[in-house]
Amino acid sequence: ADLIIRPDHAHHAKIPLPGDLFAPERHNSGGIEFGERAALGRLLTDVRAETIDLKPVTDATPEQAGAAIAAARAGFARWSRTPAATRAAALEQAAHLLESRSAHFIALLQREGGKTLDDALSELREAADFCRYYAAQGRKLFGHESVMPGPTGESNALAMRGRGVFVAISPWNFPLAIFLGQVTAALMAGNSVVAKPAEQTPRIALEAVRLLHEVGIPASALHLVIGDGRIGAVLTAHPDIAGVVFTGSTEVARAINRTLAAKDGPIVPLIAETGGINAMIADATALPEQVADDVVTSAFRSAGQRCSALRLLFVQEDVADRMIEMIAGAARELRIGDPGEVATHVGPVIDVEAKQRLDAHIARMKSEARLHFAGVAAEGRFVAPHIFELKEASQLTEEVFGPILHVVRYRAESLERVLQAIERTGYGLTLGVHSRIDDTVEAIIDRVQVGNLYVNRNMIGAVVGVQPFGGNGLSGTGPKAGGPHYLARFATEQTVTINT
Ligand code: GLU
Repeated sequence: ADLIIRPDHAHHAKIPLPGDLFAPERHNSGGIEFGERAALGRLLTDVRAETIDLKPVTDATPEQAGAAIAAARAGFARWSRTPAATRAAALEQAAHLLESRSAHFIALLQREGGKTLDDALSELREAADFCRYYAAQGRKLFGHESVMPGPTGESNALAMRGRGVFVAISPWNFPLAIFLGQVTAALMAGNSVVAKPAEQTPRIALEAVRLLHEVGIPASALHLVIGDGRIGAVLTAHPDIAGVVFTGSTEVARAINRTLAAKDGPIVPLIAETGGINAMIADATALPEQVADDVVTSAFRSAGQRCSALRLLFVQEDVADRMIEMIAGAARELRIGDPGEVATHVGPVIDVEAKQRLDAHIARMKSEARLHFAGVAAEGRFVAPHIFELKEASQLTEEVFGPILHVVRYRAESLERVLQAIERTGYGLTLGVHSRIDDTVEAIIDRVQVGNLYVNRNMIGAVVGVQPFGGNGLSGTGPKAGGPHYLARFATEQTVTINT
C-alpha cells in the first residue's frame, strides 16, 4: 500500500488509481511499473477479502447526546492543554494507520458508501492527507505564541487555543474524508469534539473514531453520536457547545444558524460548507475532446454526488452541437453498476430516497427540456447519467445531487448574461472555464465569487493543501478545508500584554 498512498500532496493527482490499470491509454503508454501493478493487484485482492459488518447501529437518544456534550466539556480541559506537537503526532499516526489498513477502509467505503474503487481510494488518500496537513498546520499555528511588537517596557504575545466543545456534522458523500477532516481540524485546534455523521454512513465514522482513540486521542476528547437530523438538532441546540462545523445542504445550514442564533449564552460560530448549482463555461476556442472528458468526469464521476460536481454547462452556440455530441459519446462509455467491480465508473446513489428524487427530476426534465443522452442503469439504486438541454439556466432552480447534466447554449456576445445567470443562482462553490482566450479567462476570474475556479480541466477532486476547498453565498460561510487558514476558524485568540 505504501506504493499507492503517498503523503506528497503535490503529486497526489498523478498516482495511478486501480481503475487506471484498465484504461487503454495506460497500457499503451506502458506507464505502470510492474511493482505498482503488483501492489494494486494485491490491494484489490485484499479489499475483496475484507469482511465488513453492516449491521445497523443504534441511534443515540437525546439524553445520550446531552451526556456526550457534558463528557466532551469535561474532556476539553485536558485536551486543550495537551501540547500541539502531541496532538499533531497523534494525527500523523492516524494517517499512517489509515494507510496501513487501506484495504479495510476501501471495502467499508464501497459497501457502506457505495463508492467505486477509484473514488474509495481517492477518499482514503484525502482522509490521510487531511490528518497530515492539519497536523503540519497545527504545529505552526498552535505550537508557540506569536510575539507582537510594542513599546519599550511592554511585551505583547498572541496565542491560539481551542474554543471548547465543537459539534461536527458530516455528510454521507465523503463519509471518511470529510468526517475526519472536520474532526481532526477541530481536535488539532485544541477543541474537544462531538461528531454526528450522516445516518447513512455510521459504520465508517465509528471505525474512524476508534482509530483516533487508538492513536491516543482521549475518549473524553472525542465522542460519536449516531442519529439523523433530529439528533443533530439536539446537539446544536445544546447550551454548552462552542462551535459547529457542518457540511451538507444549504437548508440544514440555515436551520443550524437559526438554532445557534436563538440560544441564550455565548455567540457560537458556524463553519458551513454546503451545495452549489455549479457551472462550467466552454467557449468556441476550447479543445472539444478535453471538454468532453472533463465534463463527464465533473458531472458523472461519483454518480454526481459531490457538492463540487458540474450541474450546468454553458456552451458557445457555434460549437454546441459538436460538443454535446462528444460529451454524449464520452458518457456512453461509462460503466454503471456494482462498485465492487474494478471497471465500474458510476456506482449506486446513496439511498432509495435519493433515487426517487433524481428519477422525479429526470421525469420533469423530460417534459421541460431536450434530452440528448440517457445512459442505461441496472435495477436497484442506480441512476444512469442524463444530459438535458435547457432553454434558460433559470429552469434549474435547485441543486440536483446526482448524475444529471444540464446544458445551455450561449452566444459569444452574451457571456455577460451567462455570468449574471451564474450569479443569480446565489451559490458560489465551483466554476469551470474552458477557453484558450486569456482575456476571457481573466475577466471571468475577476468577476465571479465562487470558492473554487478550475480553468481548462475538470472541476472536482480538490486536493488537500493544493486546492483549498469551500464556497460562498448559498454554498457556505467561506472557510477553506485543506487550506492554510482553516484551523484558525476553530480557535480563539488571546493577546497578553505585560508591562515589564
Ligand atoms: N472536495 C470535494 C471535491 O473537490 C467535494 C466535497 C463535497 O462534495 O462535499 O470534489
